[in-house]
Amino acid sequence: MQPFHIDAIQKFPRFVHGFSLRSFESGKGTQTELRLGRHGSPETSVQHTQWFLKSLNIISGEIFILNQVHGNRIYVLEDPALTAEQVAAVEADALITQLIDKPIGVLTADCVPAILYDPKRHLTGVVHAGRKGTQQRILSQTLATLVRVFGSKPADIIVGLGPAIGGCCYEVDAPCLLPFQSQYADWERFTRKSADGKYWLNLLSANKLDALSGGVESKNIFDLGECTACHQERWFSYRKEGPTGRMVSLAMLRAP
Ligand SMILES: [Zn+2]
Repeated sequence: MQPFHIDAIQKFPRFVHGFSLRSFESGKGTQTELRLGRHGSPETSVQHTQWFLKSLNIISGEIFILNQVHGNRIYVLEDPALTAEQVAAVEADALITQLIDKPIGVLTADCVPAILYDPKRHLTGVVHAGRKGTQQRILSQTLATLVRVFGSKPADIIVGLGPAIGGCCYEVDAPCLLPFQSQYADWERFTRKSADGKYWLNLLSANKLDALSGGVESKNIFDLGECTACHQERWFSYRKEGPTGRMVSLAMLRAP
C-alpha cells in the first residue's frame, strides 16, 4: 500500500505521518478499495488498517481514532494503557498526545484532516475539520489546547492539511455561511459567490486562516493541494459520491 506524504513534513526524523489513498494494489495489478472503520466489515477494517500501518513501518496493529461527531471537543490522550477501542468510544474531533509510538488518526472524505507536530516539545495531534468543525474553529482551539496543556509555542508547530474538498467543488447555500461570517472577520477570503446565489466555500483556506490566527507561521503550514472531488481516482469524496469510504490521516511520534 502506498501512503501519501507532505515532503516538508517527511524531513522530521522522529515523526511519522501519512495519508491513505482510496485504493491500493493488492497483488498482480489488482486494485482494492480501502475500507476502514465502519466503512468496511470488521475483518476488512482490521486488515486494511494493518496494511496501511505496515506501509509506514509502524509495528502497532491499530490506529487511535475518535468517534468523530463534527463538534469542537478536543481529547488529550495521556493514559498509555488505553486501547484503540476505548478511544474509539470518545466523542471528539481532535486528539493530541505526547505518547510515543501511538498512531493517531482521523477519517475523512472531503472534510479537512489536519496533522500537527511540535518538534521542540515532541507533541502531535490530529484534527477533523469539516464544515461544522471549521465554523467552530476547531483547529485554532486545538492549537490553544497544545499551548495550555503542554506549553507548546504556536510558532514551533507544523500544520499539515490533507486531502479535502476544494473551493472548486464545494458549493453551499447562503445560510451555511452565517456561522462563518460570525466567526471569521475575513470570511470573504475563503468564499466566493456562485452563479445561482450560492457560495463556493474553501475549507482548506479557512483552516489555513484559522491556523494563522492560532499563531502558526505561514511557512509552517503545508497542504497536499488536491481536491478530493476533482481527484476521485485518488481520494474518496462524500460530496461527489454519496456514501463511500474514508481516508485516514495518520500521525505518530517516534522515540527521541
Ligand atoms: Zn474540486
